Amino acid sequence: MPSKLAVLTDFDGTITRTDVAEAILEEFAPSSWWEIEELHRARKIGTRESMVRQFALVRAKQADLIRFVDEHVEIDETFPDFVGFCNRRHIRLEIVSEGLDFYVRHLMRKWDLPLPLRTNHAVFEEGRIRIEYPWADATCTLCGTCKLLRLFQLRTEGFRMAYVGDGHSDLCPAVEADVVFAKRELAELCAEESIAYTPFVNFADVQRHLRGLT
Ligand SMILES: [Mg+2]
Repeated sequence: MPSKLAVLTDFDGTITRTDVAEAILEEFAPSSWWEIEELHRARKIGTRESMVRQFALVRAKQADLIRFVDEHVEIDETFPDFVGFCNRRHIRLEIVSEGLDFYVRHLMRKWDLPLPLRTNHAVFEEGRIRIEYPWADATCTLCGTCKLLRLFQLRTEGFRMAYVGDGHSDLCPAVEADVVFAKRELAELCAEESIAYTPFVNFADVQRHLRGLT
């Protein structure tokens, strides 16, 4: 593999040990959020529609959500080491997330891991959350942040592309990536779609595998 390698990674459930958006919905939305999630997992609605409908159910102030996130969300404790590994090896590492910026940016600041990131934008107004999509692809209404678009942009710059993820919104980039690391739903989807992938538990596994490729 050429030395110019980029790693795109999901945030929720990949850098964090659990899915932050789902934890917020579980705590602050009525249980009907799960019916919307099932439509999403059955691929009957896109990630964008799913997020809008689910977060429209949340009634909370941003400060309360941040407090909840601080109390409940844990990082994959091997991720900071992985960031150092990528820096030393000159591997480009970026986050592409279908989560919401207020908690992704808050956590990355708290953990002192300043990485480039693309994520959806939450607007808090009158006790409700409206979601904007600064990183959407204009030709697709299914997703918010288009993870595939970023993969193509970096490939155009000459990078070989590795992708790390755990969920349904990771399938598009997994189809195109040169190397895929998958767990949970993404691993199931890759198996269903006959996409070659390396299973992983944490970023120490990803690092071990990439060490042999760079
Ligand atoms: Mg995820």
